[in-house]
Amino acid sequence: MAEQIDVLVVGAGVVGLAVARALARAGQEVVVAERHDAIGTEVSARNSEVIHAGIYYPAGSQRARLCTAGRDALYRFCTAYGVDHRRTGKLIVAAEDADLPALDAIARAGAANGVADLQRLDAQATQARAPLLRTAGALWSPSTGIVDSHGLMLALRGDAEAHGAMIALRSPVTAIRPQGDGFRITMADGGDGYELDARYVVNAAGLGAATVAGATKGLHARHVPRHHIAKGSYFTLAGRSPFDTLVYPIPEPGGLGIHLTLDLGGRARFGPDVEWTDHVDYAVDPARAAAFCRAIRRYWPGLPDGALEPAYSGIRPRITGPGESAADFVIQDADTHGLEGLVNLFGIESPGLTSALAIGAEVAGRLGLGPRLGEAGFLAAELALR
Ligand SMILES: Cc1cc2nc3c(=O)[nH]c(=O)nc-3n(C[C@H](O)[C@H](O)[C@H](O)COP(=O)(O)OP(=O)(O)OC[C@H]3O[C@@H](n4cnc5c(N)ncnc54)[C@H](O)[C@@H]3O)c2cc1C
Repeated sequence: MAEQIDVLVVGAGVVGLAVARALARAGQEVVVAERHDAIGTEVSARNSEVIHAGIYYPAGSQRARLCTAGRDALYRFCTAYGVDHRRTGKLIVAAEDADLPALDAIARAGAANGVADLQRLDAQATQARAPLLRTAGALWSPSTGIVDSHGLMLALRGDAEAHGAMIALRSPVTAIRPQGDGFRITMADGGDGYELDARYVVNAAGLGAATVAGATKGLHARHVPRHHIAKGSYFTLAGRSPFDTLVYPIPEPGGLGIHLTLDLGGRARFGPDVEWTDHVDYAVDPARAAAFCRAIRRYWPGLPDGALEPAYSGIRPRITGPGESAADFVIQDADTHGLEGLVNLFGIESPGLTSALAIGAEVAGRLGLGPRLGEAGFLAAELALR
C-alpha cells in the first residue's frame, strides 16, 4: 500500500519551498518531491535576486497583490532568519525627455499598486544621486532591495523541516491520478518508481509545471497553458560598480530593459535581456554584448569598451509568447479545473522570488488550510516569526 500523507508539493524551488513551509506550519504532513539531487537549481537559481517593490504590474493583478505582500513578508523573514539581504533602492531612469511620459505612467502604476514610497526626481536630483547617468529624470524606489536567493531557500527549507516537512530529492513526479479523497502520485527515478497518496497536491514545478499538469489524470487540456521559452542572459561588469543602487531603464516589450543590479558582494551585473528560443540552453552568447552596450550607453554613456563579461542566464516560465504581454501568475484551483485538493501554479516568473511567501500563504488559503492572503492572519503570522 502506498504511504498516505496530507500534501505533496511538486518542485523544491523558492515557491514550492514557501508553499511547503506555509502548509507545514498549518499542521499538515508535507512531502516536497524534487526531480534533481538538490533544491533550487532551476529558475530560482538563475535570476536577478531583486526584492521588487511591486511597481510595474497591472493594478489588481495577482503579481501586484502578491509582490507587495510578499515583499514586506520577505524583508521580515530575512531579518528573522538571518538571510543576507539589503535595501539598495532602485532608480528607474528616463534617459531623455521622450522617456518622461513612460516614466510618469510607471509612477501611476506604482501608486495604483499601493507602492507609497516612490519619489519622482528631476534630472538634477537624479544626477545628484547617480552622477554618471544621462537622464531627464527618474523614479526612486527606496523599498527595492536584493536577497541571497540560496540563503532564502535554505531558510525556507529549514523552517519547513522544523515543522515536519520532508524533501524527497531525485523524485521526479511522472503521474498524478485522482483517487478516493485525494490523489495517487507516481515518482520514477531511473525505473525504480514509487507511489504516495496525498489529500492535496500543489504543482510548483516551474518550467515543468505544464508537463506535470499534462500528466494529471482528469485535468482537461484546456487548463494546461502552453509554455514559451524566454531566455534572459546576464553580463557582469569588470571592476568596481560605478553605482551603489540598482538602475533600470524604461521597460521594453517582454522585459524590464537591460538594467544594472548588484549582488551582495557589491559587483554589478546587467540583464536579463529577452531571447525567444525553442530549447533550454543556459550558455551565454558573448556576441550579445554589443546589444547590451547599446542599451546601457543610453543611460550610462561612460560604459568602457570591453567591460562586459558573459555571466549566466535564466529561463522565464512564461505562458505567453513573443508580442503578447506577460501573463499574470496563474494560481489554478478546483474552482477552475474541478479537481478538489489540486493547485497548479503556472507562469510564476518575475516577481516570483519576491512573492514566494505570499504565494505560500495564498495556496494554503485556497486549500482551506490557512488564512487567505489579505486576511490579517498572514501578515500577523509573519510578524510573529521567532
Ligand atoms: C532571468 C530571470 C530573472 C528573474 N529575476 C527575478 C527577480 O529579480 N526578483 C524576483 O522576485 N523574481 C525574479 N525572477 C522570477 C523568479 O526567479 C521565479 O519566479 C521563481 O524563482 C520561481 O520559483 P519556482 O519555485 O516556481 O520555480 P523553480 O525554482 O524552477 O522550481 C521548480 C522546481 O520544480 C522541479 N520540477 C520540475 N518538474 C518536476 C517534476 N516532474 N517532478 C519533481 N520536480 C520537478 C524543478 O527541478 C525545480 O527545482 C526571475 C526569473 C528569471 C527567469
